[in-house]
Amino acid sequence: MHRIPQMTVGGSALPTTAAFDVIDPATGEPFAQAPDCTPDQLDRAMTAAAEAFRTWRRDDDARRDCLRKAADALEGAVDTLAPLLTAEQGKPLKDAREEVGNSVAWLRYYADLDLPREIVQDDERGYAEVLHRPLGVVAAITPWNYPLILAMWKIAPALRAGNTMVLKPSPHTPLATLALGELFQQVLPPGVLNVVSGRDPLGALMTAHPVPRKISFTGSTATGRQVARSAADDIKRLTLELGGNDPAVVLDDADPQEIADLLFWGAFTNNGQLCLAVKRVYAPESLYDDLVEALAERARTVRVDTGTAEGALLGPLNNRAQFDRVSELVADALHHGATAAAGGAPLDRPGYFYAPTILSGLSDGTRIVDEEQFGPALPVIAYRDLDDAVERANSGDHGLTASVWSPDLDRAAEVATRLDAGQVAVNVHGLGVRPDLPFGGHKQSGLGVENGTWGLHGYTDLQVLTRLAKS
Ligand code: NAD
Repeated sequence: MHRIPQMTVGGSALPTTAAFDVIDPATGEPFAQAPDCTPDQLDRAMTAAAEAFRTWRRDDDARRDCLRKAADALEGAVDTLAPLLTAEQGKPLKDAREEVGNSVAWLRYYADLDLPREIVQDDERGYAEVLHRPLGVVAAITPWNYPLILAMWKIAPALRAGNTMVLKPSPHTPLATLALGELFQQVLPPGVLNVVSGRDPLGALMTAHPVPRKISFTGSTATGRQVARSAADDIKRLTLELGGNDPAVVLDDADPQEIADLLFWGAFTNNGQLCLAVKRVYAPESLYDDLVEALAERARTVRVDTGTAEGALLGPLNNRAQFDRVSELVADALHHGATAAAGGAPLDRPGYFYAPTILSGLSDGTRIVDEEQFGPALPVIAYRDLDDAVERANSGDHGLTASVWSPDLDRAAEVATRLDAGQVAVNVHGLGVRPDLPFGGHKQSGLGVENGTWGLHGYTDLQVLTRLAKS
């Protein structure tokens, strides 16, 4: 067993009074423990954050400075954080290192971001300015697929805007986030970032708690609904980053071999456990067989192994429930007449390994097409009429990201902007995930956006300052 990492409250470690097991997805066995935060300990975290807010909100330059120091500290800790992330999440070590690197980039982006004053009037009649005021304590809750970067999408803008935070990672992946809290004890004033861990009910305690003025939540749409209900009682501000069922629409002039690599990785990055992964492909009948084969060829040859194995490109699924869900959705598709052009079953080894799977011969109305699979199984659906494909791509309750694939860039862009999603892309999927562009879902994929100035303003309330001119 690894050492139990501590929760960070008020700038120091909070002694662990109860703990729960953390499972290694590559073996299915417990390999570490994490603290199980009690309601009393959560109160202490909230109080520490509220006290820190009094001074943290005042000095923007000091905040920028702290974020820069945090970025340096994080960059220097990649050799300890990345292996922890791989151990608890399952992803290959190079991907874990990249996640740490991206987290550093987000901190630096927000530290360097210039926020111009918004003066609407300054003349002989008077003065009017729109200010962005920090909210107070933010309760931040994250999922298990990208624990560090999704936490950083919240930490960097919320802190830069002058808020303080109580952060809770998923019980499946608490360790790297707890370690991040310990690391930042050296660079942030006490109470600015508090990190607690616990099972799902701790999340519900946080959203119902009277102290936070905002909840920033990333996770499933089902949990997002509960979070929104809980926030309604005292009108907490809310950002929800929820699930997706993201379509890729291939046009009839595309070359299957040309697009196969990027399309494959658009779907299988992080083993498909990515909110914005391609979750269904619509392909014209004329290209259908060639595209299925090009994708299947990549699925059959990609190296799946433990995250620490040299050359592994995909690891195991993160947890038993997700492994069971992917297994169930693929079995359901096969039962209803689909063909597995690649994969179609778990790998015969311990842990939550599943063979990268390409499914053909199925259509809308099959569960794996209509629901978010969040795993390494991609349905390819044939279409005859493009308008019909666009309508099917827009069906359902999700609208996170989408892509269109064609050498005719204008035509592809025209089709892309007919898709109902927060980000659309041409000949690539997910290119818009950058610190300086807004990311958020349409329909039931979310509420509000993260990243860029848009994301930062989500951690503020507007305040209008007016005065009459001197007479
Ligand atoms: P989840 O909803 O089960 O859990 C997310 C977090 O919420 C965890 O920390 C969990 O402990 C906590 N939680 C559980 N019940 C709660 C409650 N009642 N109140 C408050 N918090 C509660 O999601 P997951 O399985 O960890 O993550 C997978 C989902 O996240 C997928 O649907 C995926 O699409 C989505 N996701 C979305 C984005 C995005 O940016 N849109 C990014 C990553 C993942």
